[in-house]
Amino acid sequence: MATLEDPLHAIGFDLDHTLIRYKLEPFMKMIYESIALHMVHDFGYDERLLQFDDDLMDFCFKGNFLDRNRGNFLKVADNGYIIRACHGSKLMSDDELATTYGKERIFPYFADVKDTYDYSNMCYFFDGYYEIPTSAIAARLIDFVDAKKERKAPYKIWGNIQNSVFKVFFYKNFKEHTCRFFKLLFTEPEKYAERCSDKLVNYLKSLKQRGKKLFIITYSTVETATLMLDYILGPDTWRELFDIVVVDAKKPDNDKDEKIPFNEKWSEHGVYIGGHCSRLLEFLSSSTGEENPNVMYFGDSIRSDIVGPKKFLNWTCGAIIDELGPVAFPDSQDESRKKVVSSKRWGSFFYDSPNCTSDSDDNLDSIRTCEWNTFWANGIKKYADFCIPSLQYFVVNLCLYANNIYPTLCPYSSYKDNPKSSIAEYPPHQWPNASS
Ligand SMILES: [Mg+2]
Repeated sequence: MATLEDPLHAIGFDLDHTLIRYKLEPFMKMIYESIALHMVHDFGYDERLLQFDDDLMDFCFKGNFLDRNRGNFLKVADNGYIIRACHGSKLMSDDELATTYGKERIFPYFADVKDTYDYSNMCYFFDGYYEIPTSAIAARLIDFVDAKKERKAPYKIWGNIQNSVFKVFFYKNFKEHTCRFFKLLFTEPEKYAERCSDKLVNYLKSLKQRGKKLFIITYSTVETATLMLDYILGPDTWRELFDIVVVDAKKPDNDKDEKIPFNEKWSEHGVYIGGHCSRLLEFLSSSTGEENPNVMYFGDSIRSDIVGPKKFLNWTCGAIIDELGPVAFPDSQDESRKKVVSSKRWGSFFYDSPNCTSDSDDNLDSIRTCEWNTFWANGIKKYADFCIPSLQYFVVNLCLYANNIYPTLCPYSSYKDNPKSSIAEYPPHQWPNASS
C-alpha cells in the first residue's frame, strides 16, 4: 500500500506547541502571572494586574498586531484591512477605527510584514502562546492609564514589559533556579504539558523502521528541550527516535549561504546546539544518501516553521494550528483548550466578516459567508501544504491516507473558489483515496 510518507526521506518537528502539546489554559495563565509579578514587584505597577480572569483569556488571541504608540491591538486581513481592533482591552467601534486609521482602515505597517511574515522595527505581532500573554499585560496597563485619565499615547509601558518578559525567560535565571516560570514548568510538568500518546510514539517508531530520518529543530535551550523531551517521551525513547536534535537553532529564514558549524559538545546525547540550517541539510544529505532529500516538517509558527522552510528549502510543511480544533471538532469536550483558542472578542483566527457574531464565528455557515481571510490564514494557504490542529490529529487521521494526498484542512474563504480544499466538503472519514 502506498503511503503518505513513501516519497519522504526525512521528517522533522518543531518542539514547543508541536511535539510538546501544552495545556494552554494553565500554561498561558502561568506565563501571564510570571510577567505580572515582575511588573508589580520590580516596577510598582497596580496589583490588580495580577488577576487573570476569563475575560482576559478571551482577549488573548493568536496573530494580533500591535500599534504600540496608540496602544491598539489589531486583527488584520490578508490585504492589510483592520478587521477588528481593541484599544487596551476595549473593542474599538467602526467610527473610532475610521478616525484613527482612515476610511480605508489599512494597518500602517502592513508593507513591512506582508511578504516576510516576520517582525520589523515598527511591526510587532503576537504569534505564539509564549508571546500572547504579554498582549494581555499590555492591554490591562493601557486600561489602567486610560482610567486615570493620565496623558495617553504614546504609552510608556513597553520598556518595563520587555524587561519583565526578559526576566521570565532569561536563560541564566533558569540555570540559577530563580525563575518562577521554569521552576513551575519543570516541577510539575504534568500540569502544563501532555505526554505524547502511545499512538504518536508508535507512529514515530514505524517511520524509523521504514528508514526515515527523524529530526527536531527548535529555538529552545538545551536544558528546556531535554527536560521537556524527557517528560513527553521518556529519556531513552527520544534519544532512540531522533537521528538529530538541534536546539538554540536558527530556523531557515533567509537564503544566505551561512555555514555556521554546530557546537558539538552535546553530541554524546545526539543534541546539537546552534548552527545554521545548512549544516542540518548536510547531515540529512549524508544520512539519507540523497543529494536533495525530500523533507516534511511540522511546526506551529507560520513565521518560522512554515514560511521559511517552504520559501527557502521547499520542504513539505504541515502547520499545526490549534485554532483549527473548534472548527474541525465543534463538539470537542476539551473546554479548557477551546477557551484559549476561541475568542468572542476576536472571532475566528482564519476568517471574518461584518456579520460574524460570537455565536456563529466557528461554524461552517460562517466560513461560507466570510468576507476576509486573515493575514495568517493567507500565510497558511500560501506556504503550508496542510493545516491540522495537532500532531495527534495527523497520526490518527492522515497517516492512513494513501497516494500522497494532503487535504488542506484550513477553512479560509477560498472555500468559494476551491470548495474541495475545505473540511466542509471532506470531513476526515470521507477524504478521497482513504484506505483502511
Ligand atoms: Mg513552536
